Amino acid sequence: MHISGTRLRAALIDDAGIVLERHEVEISPENMVEQAAKLATDLGSKSENVSALGFGIPGLVNRQTDVVMISPDLPSTVREGLHSDLTKATGLRVEIENDANAAAYGEFKVGAGRGSRDIFYMMIGNGIGGAIILDGKLWTGSSGFAGEVGHITIDTEGLECVCGNTGCLETVASAPSIVRRARERLHRDSTSSLSRLGLNKDFTADDVAHAANEGDDFALMMIERTGKYIGTGVASVINLLNIERIILGGGVMDAGQLILNPIVQEAKRRAFQPCFEATEIIAGKLGRDAITIGAAMLARDAAIS
Ligand SMILES: [Zn+2]
Repeated sequence: MHISGTRLRAALIDDAGIVLERHEVEISPENMVEQAAKLATDLGSKSENVSALGFGIPGLVNRQTDVVMISPDLPSTVREGLHSDLTKATGLRVEIENDANAAAYGEFKVGAGRGSRDIFYMMIGNGIGGAIILDGKLWTGSSGFAGEVGHITIDTEGLECVCGNTGCLETVASAPSIVRRARERLHRDSTSSLSRLGLNKDFTADDVAHAANEGDDFALMMIERTGKYIGTGVASVINLLNIERIILGGGVMDAGQLILNPIVQEAKRRAFQPCFEATEIIAGKLGRDAITIGAAMLARDAAIS
């Protein structure tokens, strides 16, 4: 399962990482455990062999204690006892994991990370998360919070971020930041007047990508700029880890080559050349299923070990 805002996504995943069935429901976060347990029962009734429940959430999860420390989508009353409440309500072995960590594990096992030993994964959507897999295992840091690439500083004079810092990558390249930047520019720049984005005051980051794909110059420029910011972050990752493969996923990557190309160009421009040449930068393959698949595989592998 995977929670994002008030959407709860659930899927029945087989041993090979294939999605057998998907469900998606609108929930109220206060009653999330009951709703999740009902979904688990419904989906579980379709197979006799359900062994574990993996749960991906946006936020920080302490892997030693299984406590969800911080999550914008869950009230503290749900967060703190989430692991024991879900275990009780479903009767399954439960693993809770940060959503980017889960997605990274999914891509590593059955997606774009197959065949590599070490990967860095970046999830660029409503927020920006990251995860490190070394030698086939998630490297989560001393308390479970490693990989928070969305909070590296890109602009020292930038906007305040949810984390308390200013000018984080997330403040310029997440989906809501793309919309904010596009809006600001539409207001002050007359050359943007031809953009059809101006016709829809409630446009989303998906709309920007869609317009760019259809040849809208302004939208294309916004996507390219976003790619440059992400590429700047990617260059830091390359220099820090000298890692084999960097996989980029999340909704913002739905723009495809239009965003991947400027990311790779900017990473090449900024990273230390020998490190850059040793790194492959590619898009994820599992799309929106990455988190549910990865969470399920993490839970399965934890049940085996
Ligand atoms: Zn931040």
